[in-house]
Amino acid sequence: MTKNSSLRQRFKPSQPKNIFTDSPDSDKYDSQYDSAPLSTSLFFTLLGIMIGVLIAVIVIERQLPPGLKISDQHKYPDRFIAERAYNTLKNLTALGPRVAGSYTNEVLAVNVLKKEIQHIIKNAKDNNVIQLDIQKASGAFQLAFLDGMTNVYKNMQNIVVRIGSRINSPHSLLLNCHFDTVSQSPGASDDGAGCAVMLEMLRVISQSDRILRHNIIFLFNGGEENFMPASHGFITQHKWAKEVRAFINIEACGAGGRELLFQAGPNHPWILETYSEEVPYPYASSMAQEIFQSGLIPGDTDYRIFRDFGNISGLDFAWSSNGYVYHTRFDSIDQIPLGTLQRTGDNILALARGMAMGHQLSNIESHRAGNLVFFDFLGAFVVRWPMVIADIINLSSVILSFYSVYENMKKAFKTDAISNAYYIRKVAQCMGAVIASSLASLLVSVSIALLLNGLGRTMSWYARPLWIFFLYVVPAMLVLMATILYHARTTHKDIKSSAWPTFRLYYDAYQLLWTLSLFVGVILRIRSSFVPLFWTLFPSVGTLLMKYLEHWRGFKWLLLYIGIMGLPFVQSIYLLMGALYLCLPIMGRAGAAYNSEVLIAILITYFFSLLVSYVVPLILLIKSVERVFSLLLGVFLLSIAVLILTPLGFPYSGDPNSPAPQRFMIAHVKRTFHDVNGQIIDQASGYWIADMDINSPHSVDRYVPEVRKAKLVEEDCIKYLYCGLPYLVPVQNFIFKTHWLEGPPIRVKETSKLLLTSRQKISNGERVTVSINGPCHMGIMISPTLGLELKSWSVVEGKPLAAAPLWNNRQTYFIYYGYSGDSVALNFSMDFKIPLQHSGPIMDIGIISHYQFEPLAPEFSEMIEKFPSWTALTYWTSTVETWIF
Ligand SMILES: [Zn+2]
Repeated sequence: MTKNSSLRQRFKPSQPKNIFTDSPDSDKYDSQYDSAPLSTSLFFTLLGIMIGVLIAVIVIERQLPPGLKISDQHKYPDRFIAERAYNTLKNLTALGPRVAGSYTNEVLAVNVLKKEIQHIIKNAKDNNVIQLDIQKASGAFQLAFLDGMTNVYKNMQNIVVRIGSRINSPHSLLLNCHFDTVSQSPGASDDGAGCAVMLEMLRVISQSDRILRHNIIFLFNGGEENFMPASHGFITQHKWAKEVRAFINIEACGAGGRELLFQAGPNHPWILETYSEEVPYPYASSMAQEIFQSGLIPGDTDYRIFRDFGNISGLDFAWSSNGYVYHTRFDSIDQIPLGTLQRTGDNILALARGMAMGHQLSNIESHRAGNLVFFDFLGAFVVRWPMVIADIINLSSVILSFYSVYENMKKAFKTDAISNAYYIRKVAQCMGAVIASSLASLLVSVSIALLLNGLGRTMSWYARPLWIFFLYVVPAMLVLMATILYHARTTHKDIKSSAWPTFRLYYDAYQLLWTLSLFVGVILRIRSSFVPLFWTLFPSVGTLLMKYLEHWRGFKWLLLYIGIMGLPFVQSIYLLMGALYLCLPIMGRAGAAYNSEVLIAILITYFFSLLVSYVVPLILLIKSVERVFSLLLGVFLLSIAVLILTPLGFPYSGDPNSPAPQRFMIAHVKRTFHDVNGQIIDQASGYWIADMDINSPHSVDRYVPEVRKAKLVEEDCIKYLYCGLPYLVPVQNFIFKTHWLEGPPIRVKETSKLLLTSRQKISNGERVTVSINGPCHMGIMISPTLGLELKSWSVVEGKPLAAAPLWNNRQTYFIYYGYSGDSVALNFSMDFKIPLQHSGPIMDIGIISHYQFEPLAPEFSEMIEKFPSWTALTYWTSTVETWIF
C-alpha cells in the first residue's frame, strides 16, 4: 500500500479543497508545480540581490579611514598620526629580516626603537612620567601547542617603556608587540607595524595634557617568533610585571586591512565593554575566538603567554586578511596602506586610554565574573551580551520557533483536518530530505575536488578566491535545490492545491533544524550560537508575520521574505567572508597532510548551504525550474572549461600588488647518525623540502630541475627521531609529508656539540646529564626506549611534556632552545624510570642546529635563484645528529 492511498483515507471525500489551503487563490491552480506563484525572473532577481550583498560586504570590508599626515598634526594635536608610524616602520623594515639572536635584531632593531623612544621621552609633557628599561630574560616553559614542546631561552631582549602620571598608580595596562621576524621576511605587518603603532601611541600620550589614571606599559618584545620566549621572560620576571592588570596584544597573521579582535578574556567582560564603547572602527567576533582556540589555525600569540603564565586577561588583535604574505618576503611595507595604520592606531589608542582611565584596573578581581557573546555588525558597532542573557534569548527563540511551527500545524488541522501526527511526520520527512540534500551536495563537491586533483587543477582559488563560487557554490546550489524538488515531487504528491503548503513544510523543516542546532549550542555553551539564533529567531517571527500577510504574493511576498531573511543573511555572509579571507591563505601553509582542495570543497559547501537554507525551498515556488537549473549547470560547466583551457586557474601569483606565493621551506642539511657504540652508521648531505601545500614540491619542476629527483621521506621516519630531519618547531602532526634531495656538503662552520657529562644510578632508574652547545636556534629531541619513562628533568619544573606523535610507539620530547648574544651552553639532567629487568640503551637523543644567518653553500644559492617569482622561500642551513645512549 502506498503512502498516498493511506493518506486519502484520512480525508473526507466531500472536502472541496485540498490540504494546507494557505493560498486564497489556490483554486486557480490545479497542479502544484505548474501553478508556481513566483516568476522565474523574480527568482533570478533574488539571486542577483544576493550577489549584490556579497559584493557590498566585500567593499565594506575594505573600507579604511584616511591616514593622517605629519602636516595635519597641528589640526589634530591629540590624535594618532599614521604617517609617523609609517616612517618608523620604514626604518625598521629597512633593516631586513630580524631573527631573534641575530645582530640585526639584537643590536640594530633595538637601536632604532631606543632612539625613537628616547626622543619621545625628551619631548614629553611634564604631567607624564616615562621610564625605559631594557630587559634580558632567561627561562623555560612548556607549550601545549603544535606537537607540544618545551621552550628554553637565554638572554631574550625586551624594550619596556612605562608611562604614568604623577599619581603614581600601582596598576598598569600592558601593550605588547614584537619586533623580531622569521628569516627571509621583512616582517612589516608581523609585527613591525604593531610596534610602529605602539610607538606613535606612546608619542601621542606623552604629549597629551590628560592625566593618566593608571600606567601604560609598552612592551616591544624581541623574541616572539621563537615561540614567545620574550613575553614569557617579561611576564614571569620583569620588575613591572606584577603591576599588570590587563593587556592588549597587537599581532598579524596577514597584512594590511583591518585588525580583528579575535581573542578576548578570559572573563573580565568590562574589557570588551570598553572596546565597544571606545573604539571608532570595531571588528570583533567571539566566533573567531572559538575558531582560533579550537587549534584549527596553525599559529599562536603572546596572548597565550600572558593568560597562562601571567594569569591576566586581555585582548588579542591581528591583521587577518591577506595571509598570503604572512612569514614571507612579501610581508613588506608596500602591503600596508596608511589607512590601516590609522585605523589600528585610532582604535588601540582609544581603547588603551579607555582602559587606563577606567576604574577597573585598580580593583581588577571584582570585575572578573562573566563572559560575553560579541560580534560587530558590518564594522559599524559591536553587539554584545552576557552568556546568561544569551541563554535566555536563545531558549526563548527555541520556544518561539516551536510555537510558530505549532501554529502552522494548528492551522492545517483547522482548515484541512490534517492530524497533528501527520503534519509532524511530513515535516520530519522534509528534515530528512534537507539533511540528505546537504550530504548530496557535499558528495558532489568532494567529487569535483577529486576531479580537479586528477586534472592537475588544484587550489585554483588560492590566488583567485572567486573560483570557489563557480567550482563549489554554484553546483552546491544546484544539488540542494534539485534534491529538495525531487523529494517534494515524489513524497508530497498528495498536496495538490498549490506549491505553498509544500514550501511551508520545507520552511518549517529548515527552521526546526536550525532550532535544534541552537539548542545543542546552548547545551554545549558555544558562543557562536548567535548564528543559529539569527536563523531561528528571524524565520520564526517571519512565520507569524506571513500568517497575517498571507494574501501577499509575487513581488510583494518576495520583498517580505527578503525583509525577514535580510539581516541574518547579511550578518552571516559578513562572518563567512571574514572566515574565508582568513582560511584560504592558510591552505598555502597547512602542509600536505590534508588534501586542501577537498577540505575547502567541504568547508565551502557546508557553510554556503547553511547560508542559503531559506533560499533553496524557493525552488518549489518557481514557474520554470528548468531555466534555473540550466543556468546553474551552464555556469558551472563553462567555468570548468575556463579552468582547464586557460591559465586563469593557476593557483599562485607573484604580482607584488596582490601576491599569493607558493611557500617552500628548504634546509640544506648534514645528517649524522650514531649507533649505540657511538659509531657513525649513516651520514648524508642534501636538501630537505617541507611540503607546505599539496602541490609541493613538483610544481616547480620546470624551473628547478633538481627538484624532479626529490624523494618522499618515508623510511627515515621509522628509523630516526623526527625522521632525522631539522624541524624548526615540532609540527610533525601536520607537516609530515616532506621530500629529500641528495646534495653537496654544507659550508657553515659547525659549532654544535653534545656532551654526555654523567650517568648515575638513582632509585628506580638512571640520571643522565648532558651539555649542548651550538648556534642560537636549536632543537633537542629525546625518546626513551620502549618500556622506559622520562620521569622528570632539570629543564623546567613539573612532568616533562611529551610531544604528540609517537615514534615506533615510543614517547617523544622536543626542546626548542634559543638564545641571543654570546653562545650559551644548555646543561640539563634527565631522570629515567627503568624496569629492573631492562638492559641495553635507555634513549635516543638528537640535536638539530639551525644556521640562519650564515652564508649558504654556492650550489644552494644557485638552486634558490631558480625558483620562480610566484614562490616564497624560507631557507637556511642545518645539521642533525643523533645518538643512542
Ligand atoms: Zn607575529
